[in-house]
Amino acid sequence: MTESNETILSLKHIKKTFGEHQVLKDISFDINKGEIATIIGPSGGGKSTTLRCINLLEEPTAGEVDFHGENVLAPNYNRNIYRAKVGMVFQQFDLFENKNVLANCMVGQELVLKRSKDEARKIALANLKKVGMEQYVNARPSQLSGGQQQRVAIARAICMDPEILLFDEPTSALDPEMVGEVLSVMKNLATTGLTMIIVTHEMAFAKEISDQMFFISDGVITEQGKPDQLFNHPQNEKTAKFLSNFQ
Ligand code: ADP
Ligand code: MG
Repeated sequence: MTESNETILSLKHIKKTFGEHQVLKDISFDINKGEIATIIGPSGGGKSTTLRCINLLEEPTAGEVDFHGENVLAPNYNRNIYRAKVGMVFQQFDLFENKNVLANCMVGQELVLKRSKDEARKIALANLKKVGMEQYVNARPSQLSGGQQQRVAIARAICMDPEILLFDEPTSALDPEMVGEVLSVMKNLATTGLTMIIVTHEMAFAKEISDQMFFISDGVITEQGKPDQLFNHPQNEKTAKFLSNFQ
């Protein structure tokens, strides 16, 4: 939304194979600083694997992941620093069940960023406020609704000051009435200059928020462009067919 011309992340010919199965065949794209990119496409097409190759939860079989022009897969690259700069929000929230909301937002700051307790608490409270969860600091995840848990997960992620935040179907596990509150938090975040890459099936949201969209199917990007191009002038038959189900 506050996109610049500075490329922050480049995927170059990423391939990923599990055993005999080539899940990603050749994925390349550039993401600019501050850009909001969404990835859409059919189930099993390789969307999650693409995100997991970006944050190195999976090791690409071939290709390059460049962050600020440096290949993070190079043997001498400091992956720990990179990993701390690329946050991820998962479909299933993945909060620490045995910690309250405040502690969930503090622990990574203390362990990874070596912030003091006081500083971590201050930053946690500020970010919980941003997602409307400041009144739940003492609650355990199990006491919260799915939408509230996901808002805490987003607050926890931004407490780490990521340069890029990845979202893998952040609303897919939610009851329909809770989807809106999470999407609204994400729309607010998008205006802060944070770079976001979002896998989603929420097409109206994707259309509204995206600077760039990628349609991934069978391990390749079959179409990419501005929302207007994908929704109104798709060039690829698969994209057109998939999107016609959502109009
Ligand atoms: P999407 O997120 O688009 O639904 P995924 O990236 O999760 O797709 O999966 C793409 C394909 O890769 C699927 O066929 C899936 O079964 C396979 N796959 C994903 N992760 C693994 C894994 N760890 N081991 C084996 N196969 C996997
Ligand atoms: Mg997936």
